[in-house]
Amino acid sequence: MPRERPLQRARPEPAHARLTAPAPFFSLRGDMEKQMPAIVHQFMCLDDNFGVLVHDSVTGATASIDVPEGAPVLNALSEIGWTLTHILVTHHHKDHIGGVDEVRRRFPDVEIIGPAPDRARVPGAHRYAGEGDVVKVGALSARVIETPGHTSGHVCYHFYADGLLFAGDTLFAMGCGRAFEAPAQVLYSSVMKLAALPDDTRIYCGHEYTLSNARFAIKVDPDNPRLRERLVEVERLRAAGEATLPTTMALEKATNPFLRAADPALRKAIGMETAADADVFAELRERKNKS
Ligand code: ZN
Ligand code: FE
Repeated sequence: MPRERPLQRARPEPAHARLTAPAPFFSLRGDMEKQMPAIVHQFMCLDDNFGVLVHDSVTGATASIDVPEGAPVLNALSEIGWTLTHILVTHHHKDHIGGVDEVRRRFPDVEIIGPAPDRARVPGAHRYAGEGDVVKVGALSARVIETPGHTSGHVCYHFYADGLLFAGDTLFAMGCGRAFEAPAQVLYSSVMKLAALPDDTRIYCGHEYTLSNARFAIKVDPDNPRLRERLVEVERLRAAGEATLPTTMALEKATNPFLRAADPALRKAIGMETAADADVFAELRERKNKS
């Protein structure tokens, strides 16, 4: 039977606060903290989904962030020699949970964490976690951030001590998810919650949409020199068949138009100099839908 343990409540610091990791069970603590025990392995699934495994090198615990497709996740685990202990689900879409059952048959003891705001559409999880809850993967800790918009119950997982964010389909490199289940203004609040995380946060996303996002971004933010440089770099990576992720929060704040609704040059470029930031975001989302 799955273990039923109450979720730990996060301490009431702001979302960007760096918390100290709980003490590991043996005395290497200082060294391990310096080494950042989390190892991330990213690979492709389906057409353009990312599979992502997070491994705690101290305890051996390994989480899959979503399971877009069974076989690539199982292959990645066996190639790298990790045993799956957790699945952390961001949202109910098929391309994020479609492989859960297959993986669970191979790893029957896996503990599945689902988004508390979307229990009904992510059935079968052992536990559900919502805003501020802390999920443990071995000695690693992830704080849950609710980010409604793409779906009403979408959650992201922030491994605060390791500086890792798993953003699902809320935030992409130079883009964001479509606002399928909430007004764009709600999605804007969600992406701004993520933008409050530290600049050096490494961000993993659900899809390799970066090139298409970059080509849109340059249209609405044409005089942004860092965006121009990044477009060239992303074209090079994609031509070589390489992934463009992870990204960082600093890079997104500098180049992602969906995090730059307050930027005067961007607002001028789209003729919305006096609009509210959330309405600029909504207009960007609308234009991207049509592009
Ligand atoms: Zn989705
Ligand atoms: Fe998706």
